Order: sequence, then structure tokens, then C-alpha cells
Amino acid sequence: MEVIDCDKRIVASVDALDLSCKRKIDLVVLHCSATPDGRDVSAADIRRWHLERGFADIGYHFVVRLDGTVEVGRAIGRTGAHCKGYNRHSIGICYIGGADALLRSKDTRTPQQKLALAMLLEKIRGVYPDAVVKKHKELSATDCPGF
Ligand SMILES: [Zn+2]
Repeated sequence: MEVIDCDKRIVASVDALDLSCKRKIDLVVLHCSATPDGRDVSAADIRRWHLERGFADIGYHFVVRLDGTVEVGRAIGRTGAHCKGYNRHSIGICYIGGADALLRSKDTRTPQQKLALAMLLEKIRGVYPDAVVKKHKELSATDCPGF
């Protein structure tokens, strides 16, 4: 069964993550890559874009691909660069998508991304039970993450 294989892969990618770090984490911020619906983009791609913008590394700690695979971005022990004023004590998660073909904000989460996000947030809650989950747009003037 294709669906079961897919779920197993997502479970494996989330299980493999090490979420421990010395930073105090009380916030998780959800982002999108603001790339068109259906275009697959990797953590390596975003890292390259962010380095070109002068960041020290990819700004997000985790990236959720179209197929639900969770990739590690910036090491969780290091302060991210994803939500001005909230980076020091938060974890930044980016799902790939969030825009239509004309780059207008849109919820493009695939079923696999929804499953992966739910599993990742559950795992984060297990390690940081006090962490609050917010969408980027709840903290800044932005349409991100499009839902
Ligand atoms: Zn964002």
C-alpha cells in the first residue's frame, strides 16, 4: 500500500530528529516557503537562498517537503532567523509551498505535509510541553504561512 509506505517514511523522518537543545524553547513558529503550489524545494535550496541573502545559515530549524519528509535546517541548538523578535526562544518550521502559481498566499499543504506537521508538533510538545504554536502571521505583518 502506497499510503502506508508514505506514512512509514514520514514517521521515520520524524523519529530520526533529535530535538534536545540547551536553549529555552517556549514557542514554535509555523512558516511556508512562499513557493508555488507543487514545486518541490529542499532545505538545501532554502539554505542557499538564505546564504545569498546574507544569513549565517538557513533560517528555519525544520523543513517539511511536499511528500511529508522532514528535513533538518539550522541546528536546533542555534537561534534561528525566521521571526524577528521571537527567534531566541523559538523553533522555526517551514512547509514547502504556501503560494499559488502567481505567488499569492494560499494554503497548499499536502495531506503528507499535514501529517508530518502534526507529528513534528506532537514530538516537540513531548520535549517542550510549555511551547506555544503560532503561525508567523500571528506575530508579524505577513500572510505566512497561508493558512
Ligand atoms: Zn514565515
